[in-house]
Amino acid sequence: MSYHSSNHPPRRQGSASRGIKKAYIDPAKFVNSAQASETEVYVAKHSFEDFNINPLLKTNLRAKGYVQPSPIQDQAILPALEGRDIIGVADTGTGKTAAFALPLLHKIMLSNSRALVIAPTRELAQQINSDIVSFARGSNLRSAVLIGGASIGQQLRDLRNAPQVVVGTPGRIKDHMDRGSIKLGTFSIVVLDEVDRMLDMGFLVSVKNILQQLNPIRQSFFFSATLDTRVKSLIETFSKDPLSILVKTSDSSSSINQNVVRFSHPSEKISKLHDLLISKEVSKVIIFDDTQRGVERLSNELIARGFSADSIHGGKSQGQRQRSLSKFKHDEVKILVATDVAARGIDVPDITHVINYSQPNNYSDYIHRIGRAGRAGKVGYALTFINS
Ligand code: AMP
Repeated sequence: MSYHSSNHPPRRQGSASRGIKKAYIDPAKFVNSAQASETEVYVAKHSFEDFNINPLLKTNLRAKGYVQPSPIQDQAILPALEGRDIIGVADTGTGKTAAFALPLLHKIMLSNSRALVIAPTRELAQQINSDIVSFARGSNLRSAVLIGGASIGQQLRDLRNAPQVVVGTPGRIKDHMDRGSIKLGTFSIVVLDEVDRMLDMGFLVSVKNILQQLNPIRQSFFFSATLDTRVKSLIETFSKDPLSILVKTSDSSSSINQNVVRFSHPSEKISKLHDLLISKEVSKVIIFDDTQRGVERLSNELIARGFSADSIHGGKSQGQRQRSLSKFKHDEVKILVATDVAARGIDVPDITHVINYSQPNNYSDYIHRIGRAGRAGKVGYALTFINS
């Protein structure tokens, strides 16, 4: 399909790591003990009842088991309801989806506002949409998901339905903009999730094009795990007097036991992985490898060795990616082998182990990878293979 490549800039095609230089990371940074018992308990200043949001949203929150706001929700929801632009420096797993989704849905239910949510990957876009749909259950909210690798015809039909919420990846949103099938001037709320990742993936120009076309009188939310100069400059250009909320990213990694696995030959590497995977503590695991081909090869090798494994990477069709993720979520496979590009942002709560079969490109990617384990207050394990 000609639109397939639109969410994947050319330098990421073929091999997820081609052309990307790895930064040196001191192996000592891969070793850390979880400090679950020492983690400060955050005392929320508000309860969900305190927020002046549509009662239906509160009912749906209760049904989802949300009792107390997470730190980012506690700090962002009130100012967001007052109309402030928000910068959330927060990682995945902090509850940032509800932090923007609740104010956004309340406003949509109150008036004819429309919201555009931009995410770096197709999986994250789908996950955000399903969260939004579940928060709004019982209302007549219409949403559309604009991602590559999915039927453009269905997206055109969804857009003709005048959805109040559109969630998408930059490439496909830009395609619709160029076709004239989406009129961005009608959107007065915008959310950019994982801005740093979006820029890493080469989406700066598309994102700027999209932001320039939105209603100039609007409310903007920016979420990013890191605030480097590129991210800051984009935010400064496109926000008004934003409120910055910092949620310590170290919180997510402090609940993760981290260690290295040393090997000296490739044959030793795979047998050490095999030994790890048969140990009974490892019940659900993501294994990261560099390239699409490497991921495919490793997944096939593990299946040949009798493991229940599947793979996810940018070289697979969207349908295949969704099926692999769904099998992993529903415990039909216990091992998911993944590239960084495909696995970022996915929310599977019961992952016990993250294994870096290849080292991440930089420390920030490392933190993102290991953040897949130890979510929702559980201690997780991260193991990084090091060639000694
Ligand atoms: P997020 O960072 O938005 O992807 O959320 C991470 C996970 O935490 C998701 O599974 C959410 O459903 C869950 N979650 C977010 N906020 C809360 C909350 N206030 N109470 C309970 N679970 C939550």
